[in-house]
Amino acid sequence: MSRPRRVHVIGAGLAGLAAGLRLAESGVAVVLHEAARQAGGRCRSYLDATLGCRIDNGNHLLVSGNRAAMDYLRRIGAEASLIGPAAASFPFLDLAGGERWTVRPNRGRLPWWLFRPARRVAGTGPLDYLSGLRLLGAGPDDVVTDRLDPRSMLFRRLWRPLAVAALNTEAEQAAASLLGRVLRETFGEGGAACRPLVPREGLSESLVEPALARLKALGAELRLGSRLRAIAFAEGRALSLDFDEGSERLAADEAAVLAVTAPVAARLVPDLIVPDEFRAIVNAHYRVAAPSDAPLLVGLVGGVSEWVFKKRAVLSVTISAADRLIDVPAEELAAQLWPEVRRAYALGETALPAWQIVKERRATFAATPAQQRRRPKAATRWPNLVLAGDFTDTGLPATIEGAIRSGDTAARLLGAR
Ligand SMILES: Cc1cc2nc3c(=O)[nH]c(=O)nc-3n(C[C@H](O)[C@H](O)[C@H](O)COP(=O)(O)OP(=O)(O)OC[C@H]3O[C@@H](n4cnc5c(N)ncnc54)[C@H](O)[C@@H]3O)c2cc1C
Repeated sequence: MSRPRRVHVIGAGLAGLAAGLRLAESGVAVVLHEAARQAGGRCRSYLDATLGCRIDNGNHLLVSGNRAAMDYLRRIGAEASLIGPAAASFPFLDLAGGERWTVRPNRGRLPWWLFRPARRVAGTGPLDYLSGLRLLGAGPDDVVTDRLDPRSMLFRRLWRPLAVAALNTEAEQAAASLLGRVLRETFGEGGAACRPLVPREGLSESLVEPALARLKALGAELRLGSRLRAIAFAEGRALSLDFDEGSERLAADEAAVLAVTAPVAARLVPDLIVPDEFRAIVNAHYRVAAPSDAPLLVGLVGGVSEWVFKKRAVLSVTISAADRLIDVPAEELAAQLWPEVRRAYALGETALPAWQIVKERRATFAATPAQQRRRPKAATRWPNLVLAGDFTDTGLPATIEGAIRSGDTAARLLGAR
């Protein structure tokens, strides 16, 4: 359809925010509906009463090569709210043997860093990394371990940690093509695209609140606590949106972007096939101050913790594809992970501080080949209804970058510039 006059965006996660922003920037009147009392969806911050400070629902890592996310941050004026080392740098610790190393790709595309032992994974040689090229020829049914040798040192110390973190799915089950795409857009572009970046304050402060402020400045309306219950379809178009608090009829020059989660989208849109298998992410937050010169994050191999992030008020552990931990009592997890955090940040015998465990059961869809095939396109058979969300067919795993690109795509389909 030609560019609508007004668009209802349903869901104020990053996909909805990105779509709303593009549309509002193009002069379209935007109404953003969010079922929750807070925008941000799976990417948000809140005050945790136990810890007495604000925390993120989960540690989110961006890298400088996330071009749509960087563009979004620039447009909402929040680029400077991210922090990270000046050059790509990923410190690791192998909890089994105690070895430490730091992966430090050089800025440019020619990967000379592979020839410097101090820049690559301990116990690996430059030629080992050629194995990564095997991901580029991955077929749609290949899982990561079909293309990369799971017995190799490089797999244990780099490919597996990267795969599990990026895809939130076990390497034995995750689509190799998706990992290939992630590596092509990061390591394939050189170290300049691999700088790790996290919010200085929190996810909401960087990615959500500035977007809401920009949307407001562009005249968009935000309706929190506004849950879409049903969509009525007739005459080949979406006719009305039925919210808890009442219906919105869609005029001929109006459209909707459905930027809700996959299960909600499937309930609202007839015959829509979406991913229906998910993976959990577990985060453990500890109220402790790390030395100011300590790294922003440390990758851990050979334990339960996978990444530890240094935040303003907490050290915070991420464990992806963590379904096996969902039923482990929080006290047990907090006590089990704490010694790993202490080692990662060389905290000696510091006693267990105040902690909080956050389990996101359905953090992302499972990035398996079978689930990949269930990802829908943004366009629907109704010209005035488009989909957005990390689960749509973005070519990327469920990430901030994927969610923002999906919002951009949805807005473009509706004629946004
Ligand atoms: C713990 C955790 C860690 C993560 N780590 C990373 C990371 O390190 N790096 C990274 O890039 N990505 C990470 N991700 C993934 C990233 O958070 C998501 O891919 C992204 O936030 C998804 O955005 P979205 O807009 O597609 O979906 P959502 O954020 O789920 O947004 C959907 C919105 O729709 C709303 N909604 C649902 N139903 C209705 C309805 N009926 N009416 C109105 N509104 C409705 C929801 O409340 C929600 O706000 C992580 C996710 C989690 C959970």
